[in-house]
Amino acid sequence: MQIDAGRLLDSLEHLRTFGAYKTGVHRPTYSAPDIAARRWLADSLADVGLNAQVDGIGNVFGESTGGSKLLIGSHLESLNHAGWLDGALGVAYALEVATLRPDLVDVAAWADEEGHYGSFLGSRSFVGALTEQEIDNCRNRYDELPLRDALRRADLHTRSRKVMDPTRYSGYFEAHIEQGIELEQAGKRVGIVTRLVGVWQYRITVTGEQNHAGTTSMARRKDAGATAIRLAAALDDTFRAVAALHTVWTFGSVHFDPGQLSVIPGRAVLCLQFRDSATAVLDRLEQSLVRAVHRENETGPCRVQMETLSKSMPALMHPELQACIQRAAAARVPGQFCHLPSGAQHDAQILATVLPSAMLFVPSIGGISHHWHENTSEQDIVLGCQVYADAVELMSGLDQPKDTK
Ligand SMILES: [Zn+2]
Repeated sequence: MQIDAGRLLDSLEHLRTFGAYKTGVHRPTYSAPDIAARRWLADSLADVGLNAQVDGIGNVFGESTGGSKLLIGSHLESLNHAGWLDGALGVAYALEVATLRPDLVDVAAWADEEGHYGSFLGSRSFVGALTEQEIDNCRNRYDELPLRDALRRADLHTRSRKVMDPTRYSGYFEAHIEQGIELEQAGKRVGIVTRLVGVWQYRITVTGEQNHAGTTSMARRKDAGATAIRLAAALDDTFRAVAALHTVWTFGSVHFDPGQLSVIPGRAVLCLQFRDSATAVLDRLEQSLVRAVHRENETGPCRVQMETLSKSMPALMHPELQACIQRAAAARVPGQFCHLPSGAQHDAQILATVLPSAMLFVPSIGGISHHWHENTSEQDIVLGCQVYADAVELMSGLDQPKDTK
């Protein structure tokens, strides 16, 4: 199929108007511009002949008629004051393909991939991994608004959540901006994602004794702040020894209580995240963490507690679907594509737990993302969509053992 570059760019420019902010967008999950964008997409999917709906968690679906389908899409909301292509690009590609071949695909735009309220709420709801209890407990991470209230304001609370019919789909395919600089640096225009990282997150709480910074001798003090710093430095060393080539770790937040110059901190809270695409490596880092906490408790003056915040698993992209993207790219841009792992998380990670899944990346100019400067050249946007569309056709032509026709 031959995509219509003008129509594709129009869709993207139109999506950009929902929550426009500087050169990017501010379109938080379930905000007025987010809901307006979802309605617009549902209308657009209906216009091309799909059976369109927005479900009870805010996922937008466009269902084709007939038997086994490839499921394609991405997400519509943005982070706060962020870029115009993160999520929207994959949705616009899916809409373009659905416009040309509404017989081949179902389209989905997932809700809250960006985690304003939870973790992959929309895609997890669809694969049956989101409970009503979790929805009860979720709150907006910036303003504490309960998720139930947000759904009510968006008029979604009376709708049911759509759960995947596993017999319907042959696979899931998502396009996304790379959000990194590998493609640009390598001079490549299309990326075929091999695997997505798992992200493991922890909160480490150190309890010491708050006291006077001048009158408490070094021998007597139980300095929670110093313990936290020592622990972080030790972990940074240990992780270097056990990490793999692409492993990354971040102490993204540290808090001392009471946090004053002349007061020994009685309590320190340290948040740690690490990412890798191999579970064995993540396990090694976690074991190092457990040992370091244990050692500090045995030998140090303070009590250290560690709590797991979340552990998402790495996901492998399906080799046969990767091969389809490779064939499509080789035909359109020989030599200008490559395989790469994703250091960012995407809904494809969730879908990969139930369906063969694949992702295509287009370059991000300067590797900038999650910022209103995020951009991709028009030529790369158009080329990426053409390769995506070609790959959809190839994927749809694969043997589909799950076809129930
Ligand atoms: Zn995204």
